[in-house]
Amino acid sequence: MRTIAVIGAGAAGCFCAALLSRLHPDWKVCVLEAAAHPMQKLAVTGGGRCNITNSFEFVDSLSDVYPRGANLMKRLLHSFGPEDCLHWFGERGVRFVTQGDGCVFPQSQDAMQIVRTLVRAMEEGGVQVLCNHKVTAIERDLSVHFQEASGKLGGTLRPDAVVLTTGGATARLLSGTGIELVGDVPSLFTLKIEDEGLRSLMGTVVDNVTLGLTGTRFRSHGTLLLTDWGVSGPATLRLSSYAARWLSESQYRGTLLVNWMDCSEPELRDRLPEMAGSGRTVANSHPAELSDRLWKMLVGRAGIRPDARWAELGSKGLARLVNTLISDTYEITGRARFKEEFVTCGGVALHEIRPDTLESRRVPGLYFAGEVMDIDAVTGGFNLQAAWSTAWTVAHSIR
Ligand SMILES: Cc1cc2nc3c(=O)[nH]c(=O)nc-3n(C[C@H](O)[C@H](O)[C@H](O)COP(=O)(O)OP(=O)(O)OC[C@H]3O[C@@H](n4cnc5c(N)ncnc54)[C@H](O)[C@@H]3O)c2cc1C
Repeated sequence: MRTIAVIGAGAAGCFCAALLSRLHPDWKVCVLEAAAHPMQKLAVTGGGRCNITNSFEFVDSLSDVYPRGANLMKRLLHSFGPEDCLHWFGERGVRFVTQGDGCVFPQSQDAMQIVRTLVRAMEEGGVQVLCNHKVTAIERDLSVHFQEASGKLGGTLRPDAVVLTTGGATARLLSGTGIELVGDVPSLFTLKIEDEGLRSLMGTVVDNVTLGLTGTRFRSHGTLLLTDWGVSGPATLRLSSYAARWLSESQYRGTLLVNWMDCSEPELRDRLPEMAGSGRTVANSHPAELSDRLWKMLVGRAGIRPDARWAELGSKGLARLVNTLISDTYEITGRARFKEEFVTCGGVALHEIRPDTLESRRVPGLYFAGEVMDIDAVTGGFNLQAAWSTAWTVAHSIR
């Protein structure tokens, strides 16, 4: 009988264990989990609702949603994509709703339904889940050293194959194997900006902006939310994901570039006569996409008097206004977490992993799934889809 040790009872580990037990009923599949219960993180995903996957219908390019690991994900999604995920859970009684933005949630709006489904699938397959078992090291000969929560008892397993699914910032368990690791840094966070004008607009939502970091090519599009500490919302989270490593190296300092109108200078200049034609003051003729208060703040930032009329602006005043609308800048003074929700970028370097099986090139019999690999995504269900796709590939690769 073959023995498979899955390390980490998170989304990827539990899904992989459930699949393995079904594919190979005669194998012994055991999961070692450091925490007292399996899938504690999965239980709180999506604010407790679990954004389990995404329809991908609004994804132009996979690198837009997987800043790290897009090429590998392209391959894996062919084998096990969002439809397959919904089918697997659907066969076990879970119903889903897809939001207008492509995010998919269980109809119950309850992440615990997904947790319970996986627990049941593992139980049916006879998977042994050992909680309070923290793995301390994995060696090249696949020895797995663990310690029980008390710290007093420990031991070593020697399975036929090991699946490492310990999530973000845990790849150091492999330090004795020679496997190359990419340093971990946080991704998906909001940005602190000490600008009184911006902060006074707390709660303002602007639907289509382009954000960037000056001196870099990082750009993101989407909805911006102004908060009492700076900026948040999907556009900010995407930018933090794209530039996660750059921002970490810059100690979360830099200049945020905001194109409030999400258009080019010529496009904006084409629209100005329509706004100016109203005969009102500049401050009183805001474009539909910007709120009255935000527009007034931006007009002030362009150095234009609140009572100035369009005709008084002159070419210099107009240039300042255009510049503020499409190339506004704010100093970033730090990062903040997004509702406790962040993922780690970094982990096992992808060139160490065979793309077709997700087995280590260096340590045969050692497989990887989930966030422990150097794959991470923007928000929207893409991170969990990576967990499902990688786990599925591993389960179908171990022979
Ligand atoms: C609050 C929050 C909300 C999120 N919401 C969403 C969402 O709605 N949709 C989405 O797509 N993504 C979401 N994410 C991201 C998503 O949860 C992760 O990408 C996903 O859980 C990764 O799965 P994983 O199995 O690789 O790792 P995890 O789910 O992190 O599981 C790893 C497991 O390994 C265990 N472990 C770690 N070290 C050891 C060790 N040494 N020995 C034994 N066990 C160990 C951990 O205790 C854990 O149980 C969210 C993340 C957070 C933090």
